[in-house]
Amino acid sequence: MICPKRTSELLDLHLAPFKDKDPAWEVGVSKIAGRGVMATRQLKRGEIIFQDSPLLIGLAAHEEDTLNACSVCFKMLPDTRFMCRQGCGLPVCSLCAKKKQHKTDCDMFKSWGSNEPDVANSVIIRLLCVARAINLSKDQRDLIYCLQANLDNNHRTEVRNAAKCFKNFPTDKKIVEIMNRTVAVLRTNGFDKTTDRTTDNQEFNYRALYPLFAVMNHDCIPNSYYTFEEKTNNMIVRAAVDIAEGEEITTTYTKLFTGNIARHLFLKMKKGFTCKCPRCLDSTEKGSFISGLYCRDTNCSGLVVPEITGLPHPNWNCLVCKQKSTHAQMMKSQDFASGAINAKVNSNSLRTLVHYLNEKSDSFIPSSNYVVIDAKMSVLARLAQGREDCNEELVSSTRLRYSRDITQIMDQLGLGDSLLRAQLEQQLHKEEERRAKKQQELAKKQQELADLEQKAAEADKLLAALAVAEDPAAAAGDGAAAAAAAAAAEQA
Ligand SMILES: [Zn+2]
Ligand SMILES: [Zn+2]
Ligand SMILES: [Zn+2]
Ligand SMILES: [Zn+2]
Repeated sequence: MICPKRTSELLDLHLAPFKDKDPAWEVGVSKIAGRGVMATRQLKRGEIIFQDSPLLIGLAAHEEDTLNACSVCFKMLPDTRFMCRQGCGLPVCSLCAKKKQHKTDCDMFKSWGSNEPDVANSVIIRLLCVARAINLSKDQRDLIYCLQANLDNNHRTEVRNAAKCFKNFPTDKKIVEIMNRTVAVLRTNGFDKTTDRTTDNQEFNYRALYPLFAVMNHDCIPNSYYTFEEKTNNMIVRAAVDIAEGEEITTTYTKLFTGNIARHLFLKMKKGFTCKCPRCLDSTEKGSFISGLYCRDTNCSGLVVPEITGLPHPNWNCLVCKQKSTHAQMMKSQDFASGAINAKVNSNSLRTLVHYLNEKSDSFIPSSNYVVIDAKMSVLARLAQGREDCNEELVSSTRLRYSRDITQIMDQLGLGDSLLRAQLEQQLHKEEERRAKKQQELAKKQQELADLEQKAAEADKLLAALAVAEDPAAAAGDGAAAAAAAAAAEQA
C-alpha cells in the first residue's frame, strides 16, 4: 500500500488552487481496501465534499467523426482545416495554437515526428493525455505513481501501438515507463474508454485523471456523486446521503443497474478486486431483484436469484418453491428475455417498444430485471430527444410511469442523490405540473360551460316570463304563440 501521508501531501499540492482551509475529507486507511477518502466531519446530503481538477486531460478521440476538436480547449472546429499548421499532428483552434499548453504539446509531438502530420489520427490524439504526463512537475508525476494501477499484460499495448505512428518515438525507458504507468492509472481510476463511468447518466467525452477522486474506493451503493463544471472541467463531489464523521466516502465504478454477477465480473476483470459491499452480499440486492428471473416451474410464481458465492457461475434459488437451477439454465432465460427486449429497443418504433414493455414483457421477465430497467431508461432518453411516433398522452403517461419505476428501484437500493435522480425527478415534476395544468384547464372549461348553461336557462326563463306578460294564453302551453312572443322579444 502506498503511504496515505505522502498521498495526502501530494494531493494538497494538487488541490492548492481551491484553497480549502478546512477540508471535509482526509486520506486514511480504508476498511474496503488499502487507502480511501474519509469524512472529517458530518456531511449533509447534497453538501459539497470536495472539488478536484484534472491532473491530466485530453480528447478521448473514440469516434473518428469527433477528431476535429481542439486538443486544448476541446471546442469542435470546422471539419475542413483543424490540424496544427506546425505539423505536430494535433487538432488545435487558432486561439489555442498560440497558448503555452499547445506550445509544449506541439514541441513534444513535432520532435517525435508524426508519419502523417496533416491527417487526424485517433491513436495520436488519444495519446496526448498520456504524453502530457511527461511534462508534469516531479511532484505531479509522483502523485500519478501514488495512485493505484492495474499493471496487467495489456497496459503497454497502447504506447506500443502509438509508437508506430511516429518516426522518432522516445526509446528512453524512463519516459516509456511514465506513459505506460499513466495508461494503467487512467484505466484503473481515471476516465477512459475502458472504465465504465457512465453510471450517472452524464456524458464525459474526455480522457482524464482526477487524483483525489481516484483515491476513492468503490461501493455498489455509493454515498457520493459527482458533476463537472463545464468551463473548467473541474469535478465537484457531493454527499448523496447524510455521511457520518469518520465514514468512508465512496463512489461507484460500475453501472448502477446491473446485477450482482455482471458487476462482480466487471470489477474482477477491469479493476482487479471482489466487492463485498452489503448489496453484493445480498442475493435480492436489497429487495430490488435486479437480477431476478421467473421460476422455471410454471406452477410457481416465485422469483429466482443467484446464490452469493463469489463464483462466476453460481447456482440460482427460487425464493418460493426453493427449487435450485444451474447458472446455465437461468442464463438461457435471461438471454432469451434480453434478446427479445433489445430487438424491440433497436427497432425504430418507440410506440411498439412502450407497448411491449407495458403489455408483453412481464409475461416472461420480471419488471425489476435490469434489462427492463435499461429499456425504460432508453425510452426516457428517446422521449427527451423528441421526434418519436407517440402521441402526447402516451409520451406523458410513459414519462410519468417509467420515471416513477426507476426512482422506486433507486429507493429500494438505498441510492441517494445523483444526477440521474435529479433528472428523473425533474421529469416527474414537469409531467405532474403539466397534468395539473391540464386539469385546471379542463375545470375552467367545465365552469365556462356551466356558466353558459346557466345563462341559457336564465334566458329561457326570461322569455317565458315575457310570453306570459304579452299573451297569457302562451303560459297555458300554446307553442306557436310562445315562438311568436320569443321572436317579438328578440326583435325588440
Ligand atoms: Zn482551442
Ligand atoms: Zn502544433
Ligand atoms: Zn458491491
Ligand atoms: Zn419456484
